[in-house]
Amino acid sequence: MALSYPKIKTELPGKRAKEIIEKDSQYTSSSYIKEYPLVIGRGEGAMVEDVDGNQFLDFMAGIAVNITGHSHPKVVEAIKKQSEKFLHICGTDFYYASFANLAERLAKRAPIAGEKSVFFNNSGSEAVDTAIKLARHYTRRPFIIAFFGAFHGRTMGAISLTSSKPSQRSFFGPFLPGVYHVPYGYCYRCPYNLEYDSCRIYCAEAIEKTLCKSHMSPEEIAAIFVEPIQGEGGYIVPPIEFHQKLRDFTRRHNILLVVDEIQSGMGRTGKFLAIENFNVEPDVILLAKGLASGLPLGAVISKKKFMSWKAGTHGSTFGGNPLACEAALATLDLIEKGLMMNALNMGSLLMEKLKKLKEQYSLIGDVRGRGLMVGVELIKDRKTREPARQESHEIAMQAFQKGLLLLPCGENVIRFSPSLAISAQEVDMAVEIFSEVLGQYERKRESR
Ligand code: PMP
Repeated sequence: MALSYPKIKTELPGKRAKEIIEKDSQYTSSSYIKEYPLVIGRGEGAMVEDVDGNQFLDFMAGIAVNITGHSHPKVVEAIKKQSEKFLHICGTDFYYASFANLAERLAKRAPIAGEKSVFFNNSGSEAVDTAIKLARHYTRRPFIIAFFGAFHGRTMGAISLTSSKPSQRSFFGPFLPGVYHVPYGYCYRCPYNLEYDSCRIYCAEAIEKTLCKSHMSPEEIAAIFVEPIQGEGGYIVPPIEFHQKLRDFTRRHNILLVVDEIQSGMGRTGKFLAIENFNVEPDVILLAKGLASGLPLGAVISKKKFMSWKAGTHGSTFGGNPLACEAALATLDLIEKGLMMNALNMGSLLMEKLKKLKEQYSLIGDVRGRGLMVGVELIKDRKTREPARQESHEIAMQAFQKGLLLLPCGENVIRFSPSLAISAQEVDMAVEIFSEVLGQYERKRESR
């Protein structure tokens, strides 16, 4: 049966959407980005209906959050049931079953050997802040290393580690002292102008060969924070040896290796965590975004010995809210019972189709990713690889007009981060619309 959506029946934004957008612009902070004028009325699976009845195919999932699709019946049922029992008691001070059950599920699932502990937050940034505190508290060391292009969030702690766009940091400093950034393993634009693998993955040795030669001793570094696949920075997949070398360095010097799986985790890459694609065992894992299918929840998972801080050292009023914990338990059931496998299968179909588009359209410089975390890097010229910055936003806007929801990332990348429940038909449709948009764009470019 053919898909009944996308279906666009009004101009975009429609009449009701316009009214809401007008009020929003009058009363909300001007820092909100608002990529395009989508005003959601309801969602179901990969379908988003706006307030004027237009239906869209969602391949951005609320920035990679709705991993089970919009309002999955099992997730909704879990939230409804819990909301009739109690909404809050505070997991920092008291007990409830879903708090303990979710901690157990995450601890058992995390690819870290031995006993583990879990701390719950309300968001990704908060989980990052928790891990900064944890790393300093456990190691009693001052320094933290992060990567250029990284996005770890926007609280004062997390933004100190973020290095994704100048606008996110400008005029907010000074930041947390003791944070240093080094280049990431971005082979398409190698920060050292080297070629894989004759480079011998020099980028992964930069900490040891540069920072630790000139700035600090490795024994002063508390932690390295790394996204296994950079998300907001442009869906960048580093070579496997990149993470393996970081692991080797951190092991030698008892530095905590913290993997930020906030965007890449929860089955998105076809494995529970993206770092599992690199055969690396981390010390600390950060989850948020998809963890509770859209309810605010973050989690920090670490070896028990790293999280042996005293009662009262760290806490949260809302972290591990009972509705969010129940939603996360339902989400875990769904990803374990098929969605993770679907992400792998649909991811390879999507990748194969997008790679074919690369042969067709010179605007595409690179197609990369794992599972359903796929990025298409747009360029102005195949030889110079000049980033097509403006184009990525224009293309997302044009896709929206045709009923496909996409979101740019990095300077010039279109990300494909749909729900993990996406079907082959939905993949076909998304690529068809994307191809149409690219085709129109290239024809326009040629006629200029
Ligand atoms: N880390 C990563 C890898 C992220 O992608 C994000 C959000 N884009 C964050 C941290 C911050 O999460 P939040 O917006 O929930 O604070």
